[in-house]
Amino acid sequence: MAETNLPSGDRAKSMQQLALEIVNRLHNAGHAALFAGGCVRDMFLGQQPHDYDVATDASPDIVQSLFRRSLAVGAQFGVIEVLGKQPGVHVQVATFRSDGHYSDGRHPDSVKYGTAEEDAKRRDFTINGLFFDPIAHQFIDYVGGREDLEKKIVRAIGDPYQRIQEDKLRMLRAVRFVGRLGFQLEQATAEAIRSLHQEIKQVSVERITDELKKMLLHRTRAASIASLTELQLLPVLFPQFKHYDSLYPLLQALPESCSFTLAWAALLLDLHRKNDTETWPTRHELMQRYGRAFRLSLEEIQCVIYLVESLPLLFKAEELPWASLKPILAHKQRDDLLSLLRTAGIAWQWDATSYRYCEERLRVWSDETLEPDVLITGEDIAALGIPQGPVYKMLLGTVRDAQLNEEIHDRPEALALLQQLAGRIKG
Ligand code: ATP
Ligand code: MG
Repeated sequence: MAETNLPSGDRAKSMQQLALEIVNRLHNAGHAALFAGGCVRDMFLGQQPHDYDVATDASPDIVQSLFRRSLAVGAQFGVIEVLGKQPGVHVQVATFRSDGHYSDGRHPDSVKYGTAEEDAKRRDFTINGLFFDPIAHQFIDYVGGREDLEKKIVRAIGDPYQRIQEDKLRMLRAVRFVGRLGFQLEQATAEAIRSLHQEIKQVSVERITDELKKMLLHRTRAASIASLTELQLLPVLFPQFKHYDSLYPLLQALPESCSFTLAWAALLLDLHRKNDTETWPTRHELMQRYGRAFRLSLEEIQCVIYLVESLPLLFKAEELPWASLKPILAHKQRDDLLSLLRTAGIAWQWDATSYRYCEERLRVWSDETLEPDVLITGEDIAALGIPQGPVYKMLLGTVRDAQLNEEIHDRPEALALLQQLAGRIKG
C-alpha cells in the first residue's frame, strides 16, 4: 500500500496494536467489540493479517465520539476508519449489521444494524465469518468457519446460489481464497459459480481488475487462473480466445514475487500463444484492447506492450545488432523482460543461451553504454547545407545505430560518418 512509510511487517504489527486498543476502549465503554473477517481467518491459520477489521454493537456516532482521529469511510454501511499515529496505520470499525435485499447483483439496497450473529451471516464465506475476542482470547463462530478452516474448504455462508446471486464479485473472491490459501471449493458453492459464471459481467470493471490483480500478484497465481478456467469464468473475462486449458506452466514458472504487469503480460502471452491468433488481432491490439477493457493505466498498458513485443526479439538476442538490443535493455522494465524470457525458457523448455547472453551484456554494459548521449543533432546536418526533410531522421538514425553498434565512438567520428552519408545523398 502506497500510503505508508513503515515496512509491511511493522505496519501490520502497528495495526494489530491499534485494533487491540480500539477493542479495549469500546469494551471499557460498555460495548461488544470483536476482531472480524479476514484478520481472524489469517490469525487462525497462523498467518500475519495485513489489515484488521473490528465489529461492534456501538453505533458509528459512538465510535466517532470515542476516536477523535477517525473518518466515516463507509457511512451507508456504518463503517468508521480509525487512524493510528503512523501514516498508513488504520483499522476499520463497523457496526454489526445485516444487509438488506440486493437488487443489482452488486450492493445491498439497504443495511440494518443488528446482532453479531447477523453480522457473521451477511459475510461471504464461512472462513471469513469468524470473530475473535482478543480480551477473552476466544473465537466466536456462528457459521462453521473453524471447521472449514480446518478442512481447508471455501464454502458460501447460507445458500450459495442466493449468496452469489446477491453479489457476483463473490465468484472471484472465492477463486482468490481457493488459490491463495490452497483450499478446496465446496461443491455446492462451485456449482453455484458455474451456473452463474456469465453474470460476472455485472460487476464493475474496477472491482474485477482489483481481484485479478490480487490473484496475479500472489505466488499462487497459476492455481487461481486454473480455477478461473475450471469455473468457466476466464472465457467470460477474456472472450477473445478459444483455448483456455493448461495456462499453467508459464504462470507457474514466474518468480514467486513479480509485478502485476509481468504476470498480466505472461497471462495474455500464453492465451495468445495457445490460440495461435498470430495474424488477427495482433498481439499489440490485444494488449491494448484488454488493457483498456480492464482499465489498466496507460503506463501499465505500455509496460505490458513492451514486455510482450520485446520478448520475441530476445529469442535470439545474441544475433541482434547492438543497436537493436541496447534500447530494449535500456528500458526501465528490462528486469521484468528478462524475468519473462527466463520464465518462458523454463516453461517452454528453450535453451537459456539468449537469457544468459542478455545477463552477460548487462554485466558488461553500463547505463551510459546502453543509452549514450547523442553525438550529433539536426544542426550538424543543417551545417552541411542539407535542406530539412525526412532525410534528417534517417541520417540521425544511421549515426545513432553506428554509435550503439560501437562502430563510432566520439563526435569527430560521428561527423566524419555524417559527411560520408551526406556525400552519398548529394552525389
Ligand atoms: P484480504 O486478506 O484480501 O483483505 P479479507 O477477507 O479481509 O481478505 P476484505 O475485502 O478485506 O477481505 O473484507 C473483509 C471482510 O468483509 C471479509 O473477510 C468478509 O467477511 C467481508 N466481505 C468482504 N467482501 C465481501 C463481499 N463481497 N460479500 C460479503 N462479505 C464480504
Ligand atoms: Mg482484509
